[in-house]
Amino acid sequence: MGIQTELETATLLAAASTSILSTAVRPELVMERGQGMYLWDTDGKRYLDFVGGWAVTCLGHSPAVIQEALAQQSAALVLSSPSFYNKPMIQFAKLLTDITGYDRAFFTSSGAEANEGAIKLARKHGSIHLNGAFEIITTINGFHGRTLATMSATGKKQWEPLFAPKIPGFKHVPLNDLDACLAAINPNTCAIMLELVQGEGGVHEAEVEYVQQLRKICDDSGIMLIFDEIQTGFGRTGKLFAYEHYGVQADVMTLGKGIGGGFPLSAMLTTEAFNIFDVGDQGGTYTGQPLAMAVGLAVVNELIRLELPHHAEQQGRYIIERLHQIKDKYNLKHIRGKGLLLAFDLPKPVGAELVAACLQAGLLINTPNSLTIRLMPPLVVSATDIDVMFDLLCDALDGIFRT
Ligand SMILES: *Cc1c(COP(=O)(O)O)cnc(C)c1O
Repeated sequence: MGIQTELETATLLAAASTSILSTAVRPELVMERGQGMYLWDTDGKRYLDFVGGWAVTCLGHSPAVIQEALAQQSAALVLSSPSFYNKPMIQFAKLLTDITGYDRAFFTSSGAEANEGAIKLARKHGSIHLNGAFEIITTINGFHGRTLATMSATGKKQWEPLFAPKIPGFKHVPLNDLDACLAAINPNTCAIMLELVQGEGGVHEAEVEYVQQLRKICDDSGIMLIFDEIQTGFGRTGKLFAYEHYGVQADVMTLGKGIGGGFPLSAMLTTEAFNIFDVGDQGGTYTGQPLAMAVGLAVVNELIRLELPHHAEQQGRYIIERLHQIKDKYNLKHIRGKGLLLAFDLPKPVGAELVAACLQAGLLINTPNSLTIRLMPPLVVSATDIDVMFDLLCDALDGIFRT
């Protein structure tokens, strides 16, 4: 950590403070490099990453398959235009429909865009098949993105007063409350949309019985069922997709985050019955973008080759076991989650302090709210990485609870 690098970091941070739009409070450091489970900042300090790019970098940082896919595809074709097919686009759509029960894929760049597509498709369905029904039922504490429509779909209390007027047509009901959902359904309802495990909401799982009942309601009424698997997809919960825990499939599934291993990529999958957009209803400059398609193809193939869903399930079990060992010492509560989407509650609202102490010690963890800590490491995490994480976490907990 020489004077030179410290000067460079200070210069960068000064420029950041005057040139980046203020939307987030970020720590006073600049990330420069990533490899496997670790990130390095411009001072050369190393961080063990249990945030995983926000449940995104499933293969770890800078995996060889992404480097190779980008090098090969960028040499061959960066972009033709959205009006043409390209080879990786077709190969990737074929792969995704082969590994799921879905028939059709539409590609975008971010999770919010995939959900926008699902919301538009739900309204299209309502207009064609349900006498113009347009309302979508979503869950309180659910999260669906930051565009105006997906913010409106999101059931986050703090967001209610923002950016009025919101997009109308969303009703929020408590997760796992079937009666509340039934009471919200009316002739205007065209879809029910939910995460099978609420990620941003603090890792809360939908119950199996509840989800199966939602499927039945949708089957009986013709209402479209949408699973937002942007955070839960691609092995995160210990299965390739979270719906495999439930034995039911939605009509539409949205995917993001892990699908590109860090490259901006998302998808909406539908059954043939919901292949109902008319030409021109949906599109985008970057739909089927060849670099993204090549990366997605490489990432998903690698994830399957390495059997990472199974690995995630095993490593998740080990983390839960270790959490139970320290639970009483630190008064931790509600250890929960599936695979490598895990959380626990603290006895006091010191989430931000704990995250800061861990950062100082070279460990990245997440606090979705002041009482909750969420762990979502790359799916390649090893038992040794987990042991190192617990050493750092316990030191930080000791420091915080000593005072
Ligand atoms: C992250 C997330 C989104 C939004 O994805 P972006 O890529 O940030 O637009 C939507 N739904 C869920 C469940 C998510 O976790």
